[in-house]
Amino acid sequence: MSFSPPFASAIPPAWPSGAYVAGGLFLGCIADDFTGATDLANNLVRAGMRVVQTIGVPSEPPDADVDAVVVALKSRTIEPRLAVEQSLGALQWLRSVGARQIYFKICSTFDSTPRGNIGPVTDALMDALGCDFAVTTPAFPDNGRTVFRGHLFVGEQLLSDSGMRNHPLTPMTDSNLVRVMQAQSRHQVGLIDYRCVAQGSQAIRERMVQLRADGVGIAVVDALSNDDLLRLGPALSDAPLITAGSGVAIALPANFGIAPSLGAATLPAPSGAAAVISGSCSLATLAQVAHFRLHGGWVLAIDPLQLAADGEPFIARAIDEAAARLSSVPVLITSSANAQVVRDAQAQLGIETAGTLVEAALSRIAVALVERGVGRLVVAGGETSGACVQALGIRQLRIGAQIDPGVPWCHATQVMGRREGLHLCLKSGNFGAEDFFTRALTALDSGVLP
Ligand code: ADP
Repeated sequence: MSFSPPFASAIPPAWPSGAYVAGGLFLGCIADDFTGATDLANNLVRAGMRVVQTIGVPSEPPDADVDAVVVALKSRTIEPRLAVEQSLGALQWLRSVGARQIYFKICSTFDSTPRGNIGPVTDALMDALGCDFAVTTPAFPDNGRTVFRGHLFVGEQLLSDSGMRNHPLTPMTDSNLVRVMQAQSRHQVGLIDYRCVAQGSQAIRERMVQLRADGVGIAVVDALSNDDLLRLGPALSDAPLITAGSGVAIALPANFGIAPSLGAATLPAPSGAAAVISGSCSLATLAQVAHFRLHGGWVLAIDPLQLAADGEPFIARAIDEAAARLSSVPVLITSSANAQVVRDAQAQLGIETAGTLVEAALSRIAVALVERGVGRLVVAGGETSGACVQALGIRQLRIGAQIDPGVPWCHATQVMGRREGLHLCLKSGNFGAEDFFTRALTALDSGVLP
């Protein structure tokens, strides 16, 4: 198929090719938050790419020979100026390792305000890449995010009718993404609608050429199904920049001749004892902790009031008790508690102090258990995961197979002097089925993951 080119240039010729990565890096991704980065990495792995996720912008090359790197930033709601600065830092690093295409990963509910940060970051990346046309779509049909006539739906509801209208930081009160993006970007924003997308890649290319000729710089793309995304994918084969949720990732590896394969998700063989650290108080996690206990796991509960009263000795005892069992049974250390218990603790200590005490204790315990031989670690809770990853000094994670939707096993090399590295699973609070903890550990051991 021959296409007329909607893009001014592909990646500029000055782009260094694979300075560090053998064979070059196909996709260089910049994610505006940590769990969003994992979500994208997970989709890329399922589509056949070997992926490393980095925590922040690394100073070293990727740990492994991979097809894509996802740089996880925490830039969704920070000052637009800082988000631009950090994203350009990530771009510079991705250029240095030879990325051929840049993917700015945004939230599938287009979380942003008229100040940004989706528009300002997209504009800045376009400038840095020397391109005057880019597409954007948060569509992720597998997760109920669809775009129709430029309007974003969350399940059955328009974005502006969904819970996102009350988000404390980025209330989304307008579902019309052309308007939302126009308020944030210097570029004129246009639409590639569902009728065009339904006609296939050639029609999408032609529409992009026409929009660009009309002075449009950014086009929102409708997508109602995975088939729509798979039609969009080939039309983006030479796009320097794509600003999207994680949905369109399913359609990009094929542009580089990559097909889904089990090999993409292969991690080193697991070793060492198993432990779960849980700081999430979500209903899903509470049910998972109960299931783990019921099925023979050893559970140690900690709570912020005890930590406040008896800090260091209490943590030391918890570490000793858990370590003594490591050789015989998987252990789970948890602060997870129901809403009333959490409210009581927060009322006595303050919300922030209660959270900080728990995060500090759980991350200290995670470090101590890895020092005592844990090689397979599951962490439940987004903030809790962030605290543990930071305390363990982890900068890069190779992404493995998915355990439940959106939650893969990962592997970090060089953790706390462990030659074998550490297998790590970072679960957002509400993710995962009731048997998640037990199944995650047995699946890793048996090597049987979906
Ligand atoms: P989730 O992904 O479910 O939101 P997080 O780890 O992101 O989980 O957030 C849970 C927060 O609640 C963390 O800051 C944690 O320290 C705090 N927390 C956990 N257990 C308790 C508890 N028993 N009392 C008060 N705060 C708690």
